Amino acid sequence: MNTSADVVVIGGGVVGTAVTYFLARNHVDVLLVDKGAIAGGTSGRCEGNVLLVDKMPGFDCQLTKLSQNLFPEISEELDYPIEWTQKGSLLAIENEAEMEVAVDFCQKLAGEGVPVRILDRHEVHDDAPMLADDVIGGMECDSDGLLNPMALAQGLTHGAKKAGAKVQSFSPVVDIGLDPNGRIEKVVTETGEILTRQVVNAAGIWAPEIGKQVGLEIPITPRQGQLLVAERTFPVARRKVMEFGYMMAKFESSDYKRDVTPEMEAYGVALVFEPTRAGNFIIGSSRRFVGMDTTCHIDVLRAIAKRAIRFFPVIKQIKFIRSYAGLRPYTPDHFPIISTTDIPGFYVAAGHEGDGIGLSLITGKLIAQMICEEPLAISVDPLKLSRFKDKQ
Ligand SMILES: Cc1cc2nc3c(=O)[nH]c(=O)nc-3n(C[C@H](O)[C@H](O)[C@H](O)COP(=O)(O)OP(=O)(O)OC[C@H]3O[C@@H](n4cnc5c(N)ncnc54)[C@H](O)[C@@H]3O)c2cc1C
Repeated sequence: MNTSADVVVIGGGVVGTAVTYFLARNHVDVLLVDKGAIAGGTSGRCEGNVLLVDKMPGFDCQLTKLSQNLFPEISEELDYPIEWTQKGSLLAIENEAEMEVAVDFCQKLAGEGVPVRILDRHEVHDDAPMLADDVIGGMECDSDGLLNPMALAQGLTHGAKKAGAKVQSFSPVVDIGLDPNGRIEKVVTETGEILTRQVVNAAGIWAPEIGKQVGLEIPITPRQGQLLVAERTFPVARRKVMEFGYMMAKFESSDYKRDVTPEMEAYGVALVFEPTRAGNFIIGSSRRFVGMDTTCHIDVLRAIAKRAIRFFPVIKQIKFIRSYAGLRPYTPDHFPIISTTDIPGFYVAAGHEGDGIGLSLITGKLIAQMICEEPLAISVDPLKLSRFKDKQ
């Protein structure tokens, strides 16, 4: 079946659905296409944190702040249960060396207007009484929130459809046709052709494949993360808890070494604890480059469980009911690509690594602003695809 649209968005994860939602809200004739179901990619194999506490001061922090500020409003507007809660988050600090780094980091974030503060030993155990006795303090961020990422993608799709967007699932894109002037002419799917002049590549870890169809190189690599889901139980903690060392695992900082086993180091394991609305909790996570492998490995899961027990000894008594793994769309500088390209009408919105849920809304807003030629909410210079070419 053949059709047409002013803009075709490829990829129905949180990023592509957010782009579609913001375009439809701006009365743009938009069609979202996915090779499978909505949220069938990484957005269905992750956690749902919308965090500022783990962002680097500067652009990273400012971009995330803009996105985080959109969640309360959009969760109301969507009329769909995305399970948004905003109870803040807590980073657990293990020792004086971490405390020193945390105090400095906290000051920098506070200077950017992030509602963070350091908690002393007494305060941290008041906040999370089941934390191990030897945790010496914490850092909290009041504005951090949580949601259900699959529901977010579904909710954005629902909202986009209500605003007039068309959605084509189970329709893999196999080619993008260009006219003799190098302008986009059509998107070819297994189920038919879509005539269009503009395409947004929001295909996450598959964005490089879509890029190749128009001759573009997009440096995104899958970075695996494994998670464990616990049975419904008493509240181990009332809100998101991570170890401060998570920051080191995330940014591969070599200045500081945590006291962890060689396995935990090799698998990039750091505690992230997330209570869910249903009364379960999710714990993670790991960071590894293993290609497109989404299988869970017992050694990695064991390391994750051990690390969680170190912070919450009570977890030893709780059963896990399932595990899963997802692939983060990693870029070499950890920033996403939210960008125009050398192909007129071809945009990239991909490569959000471990922050795609939190950055989904600002990504959707920015791409819609680019396409509608409106002023941008923030400069996208650090997010341009050309930054990688410039470095070669
Ligand atoms: C373990 C783990 C925990 C995480 N926790 C968090 C967190 O707490 N907070 C946070 O902000 N981020 C988190 N992330 C990161 C986040 O999940 C991702 O950044 C985000 O889901 C990426 O969304 P996306 O829409 O770019 O990609 P995806 O969700 O992968 O969507 C891409 C879509 O493109 C489609 N597609 C691919 N090829 C084609 C084609 N040829 N034709 C049509 N469609 C195609 C796919 O089917 C897919 O649906 C986590 C990730 C992992 C792995």
